[in-house]
Amino acid sequence: MNAEKELTGKIFDIQGFSLQDGPGIRTTIFFKGCPLRCPWCHSPESQAFKSQLSFLAAKCVGTESCADACVKACPENAVEYGELKDGVKPGEKKQLIHVNREKCTECWKCADACYPKALSKCGTDYTLDEVVKIALRDKMFYEDTGGVTLSGGEVLSQPEFALELLKRLKEEGINTAVDTTGFVKWEVIESILPYTDLFLYDLKNMNSELHKAVIGVPCELILENAKKIAAAGGKLQIRIPFIPMFNDSEENLRLTGQFVKELGDAVTMIQLLPYHNLGSVKYTRIMDNPKIFEATPPSDKKVQWAKEILESYGIKVGIH
Ligand code: SF4
Ligand code: SF4
Repeated sequence: MNAEKELTGKIFDIQGFSLQDGPGIRTTIFFKGCPLRCPWCHSPESQAFKSQLSFLAAKCVGTESCADACVKACPENAVEYGELKDGVKPGEKKQLIHVNREKCTECWKCADACYPKALSKCGTDYTLDEVVKIALRDKMFYEDTGGVTLSGGEVLSQPEFALELLKRLKEEGINTAVDTTGFVKWEVIESILPYTDLFLYDLKNMNSELHKAVIGVPCELILENAKKIAAAGGKLQIRIPFIPMFNDSEENLRLTGQFVKELGDAVTMIQLLPYHNLGSVKYTRIMDNPKIFEATPPSDKKVQWAKEILESYGIKVGIH
């Protein structure tokens, strides 16, 4: 028998009670995979489209404590003995592990064997029913303004699953938001428009050459799609990651303000997201010797200055 394969989406996290991913109290579903490579990305685990082995050293109790469970579980000898670190008892050292990613064939046996969950599989295939069930669990907390946000990664890189999930959520009477880079074919955005109450829409830089040089893709498609969403009656909350030496010039802020103003009533507000480096620790969980972007976070004064420039275009601006 040739049973049809059930539609699944690759999800790397689901967070309840989120206050940062759109209006009200929300459940946020994080999709895996993104076509952009923002050097300051706070969710590096969102970038690859496939599942990845994650190792969180802070959770590892050491090989002796769990009788080398992960080392023994690996059929490829890819789990090796790694650094000695201070242990759980004062004065003791614990032997951590190191994953040799070149040997790893992603069978996840070590993650299954690791009871403290220091090793885990990042990226799980969920069915629609599974995600909807989780979203419904917190429905009573969504009240008037909250709901479910699809985030990532780039949600619309998994267009079929995103569309069907949004349809199901609307059938359940749930408010929906989609957090997107906008770097997607218009047809995909058009297909989800009737089921999306709000787009959380990133604008990172108005200079396409710089956008491409730093992030890997130009910005024309992103700007065009924002205009088309506005023209089609969609609602947009514009999000601007405020990154030192990349998009913090007065010229870029003014070009952004003017562009957003021209989107008219479709824009509910701009959220300014000042750069911070709290996500950098996540890189080491999924890769060896990662290149980590480092910059001094903008001062409160500079953020306020940027906010006032954007507000001068008659737009409500929040700081996240
Ligand atoms: S990774 Fe897990 S199984 Fe391996 S030593 Fe650490 S805690 Fe034990
Ligand atoms: S995922 Fe499989 S191959 Fe990779 S380190 Fe773990 S047990 Fe070894």
